[in-house]
Amino acid sequence: VDFSLTDEHREWQARCRRFAAEAIRPVAAELDREERFPWEVLRAAREAGLYDGGLLMRWAADEHGLMAAIYAEEMHWGCAGVALALGASTGVAAAIAGQGTPEQVEEWLPLLYGEGDEVNVAAYAVTEAQAGSDVSAIRTTARPDGDGWVLDGEKVMIGNAGIAEASLVVATVDPSLGHRAQASFLVRRGTPGLEHGRPYSKLGVRASCTSEIVLRGCRVPGDALLGGREALEGRLERARERARDGGSAAPRAGGGSSRVLALAEITRPLFAAGAVGIGRAALEWAIERLESLPEADRRLADEVVADVATELEAARLLAWRAASLARRGVPLTGAQGSMSKLKASEVAVWAAGALMDAVGPAAASADCPLGKHLRDAKVFEIFEGTSQVQRTVIARLQRELHAGAA
Ligand SMILES: Cc1cc2nc3c(=O)[nH]c(=O)nc-3n(C[C@H](O)[C@H](O)[C@H](O)COP(=O)(O)OP(=O)(O)OC[C@H]3O[C@@H](n4cnc5c(N)ncnc54)[C@H](O)[C@@H]3O)c2cc1C
Repeated sequence: VDFSLTDEHREWQARCRRFAAEAIRPVAAELDREERFPWEVLRAAREAGLYDGGLLMRWAADEHGLMAAIYAEEMHWGCAGVALALGASTGVAAAIAGQGTPEQVEEWLPLLYGEGDEVNVAAYAVTEAQAGSDVSAIRTTARPDGDGWVLDGEKVMIGNAGIAEASLVVATVDPSLGHRAQASFLVRRGTPGLEHGRPYSKLGVRASCTSEIVLRGCRVPGDALLGGREALEGRLERARERARDGGSAAPRAGGGSSRVLALAEITRPLFAAGAVGIGRAALEWAIERLESLPEADRRLADEVVADVATELEAARLLAWRAASLARRGVPLTGAQGSMSKLKASEVAVWAAGALMDAVGPAAASADCPLGKHLRDAKVFEIFEGTSQVQRTVIARLQRELHAGAA
C-alpha cells in the first residue's frame, strides 16, 4: 500500500489549491450568505482548465485513481457549496462515459460544461419524496411512445435543477420489476414538460442550487435513453427471467445491485474527499486562531488539533484507498466506498464542532468560518446516502464477507 503522491499528483494538487485559494476563498462567505450560484467561479475554473470534459480524461489516465479525490478535497477546502456546483457536471459526465453509447458521449459531454464562452451545468435526478435512501421506490415513469419516451414524475432535492442544460433523470420503465427496470434519460433544458421549483434555502452548501424537477408528459427522443434500447431490453429480459424464477425484484435495504447503488459505491470516496477538504479548512483556520492563546490554554487546544488532524488523515486514507480500488476495477465488496463516506462526513462534522469548542466564544462570531464548515459538513451526512444507510450497507456487506469466509 503506497499512497505517496507522484510529481504529477503534486503538481495537480498545487494547481487546484491555488485556484481554490485565489478564486473560491475570496467569494465563499458572500456566496454562502447570499445563497448565490457561483457562475463567475465556474467561468474562472473553465479558464484555468478545471471545469471541462478534460477532467474525466485526466482522471481516467491516472492509474492510481487519486486525481479526482485530490480535486474534490481542494475545491471543498475552498468552499463546499462552490465545489458542489463545480462537481455536478463531472458526476453526470462520469455516468454518461460509463454507461452511454459512443454517440451519447460525443453529443452530451460538451453540453454538460458548455463550450466557448458558454458555461453550463448538469443535474443528476434520482431522489423523490418517497425515494431517497430507498431508490427502488422511484415512481417516475418512462413510457415508450413511438420512437421516443414520455417521462412523468417529480424529483426533489436535485442539485442544479432549473439551471442545468442537461439533466440525467432516473425513471422506471416497468414498475413491476422494481429497481432492475430503472433507466436513465438525458433531458435537455427547455424540453416541453420539464419544469422546476424554486431553489430551496439550505442549511449548508448554500452557494449550490437545489430544487425540484417536475416531469409532466415530457417527451424525449429514443436516443435520450442512456446506453440505448438494446442494453435496456437485455436488462429487462434478465429481470423478467428472475421474476419468473421466483427471484425477488426488491433490493435489500440501503443498498443492492441496482446500477444507481453500484455507481454510488464508486462516487462515495469523492464525497468523502470533499468532506476531508471541509475538515481541513476548519483545522487550518483554527490552528492560526489558536496561536494567539496563552500558553496555559494551548495544551487543551493542542489535544483537539492533534485528534482532528489524526482523524482527518484516517478519513483521507479511506477515501484514497476506495478511489484507488475503484480506479483499478476492484469490486468494492467490503463497502470501502461507503466506509470512506461515513467516516469522512462524520469526522468533518465532529471536527468543526470540536474546533469551535477549542476556539471558544470567538467561534460564535459571524466572521468565524467554523460555523459555515459545520453547516456544510452536516449535508455530507445526508446526501449520497445518509450515515445510517452507509452503516446498513457496510454491515450487510461485512456479513456477506463473513459468510463467504466461514
Ligand atoms: C444539499 C442536497 C443536495 C442533494 N442533491 C441531490 C441531487 O443532485 N440528486 C439527487 O438525486 N438527490 C440529491 N439529494 C437528495 C439526497 O440524496 C437524499 O436527501 C438522501 O439520499 C436521503 O434521502 P431522504 O432525504 O429522502 O431521506 P430518507 O431516505 O427519507 O431518510 C430519512 C431518515 O431515515 C433514515 N433511513 C432511511 N432508510 C434507512 C435504513 N434502511 N436504515 C436506517 N435508517 C434509514 C435516514 O438515514 C434518514 O435519517 C440532495 C440532498 C441534499 C441535502
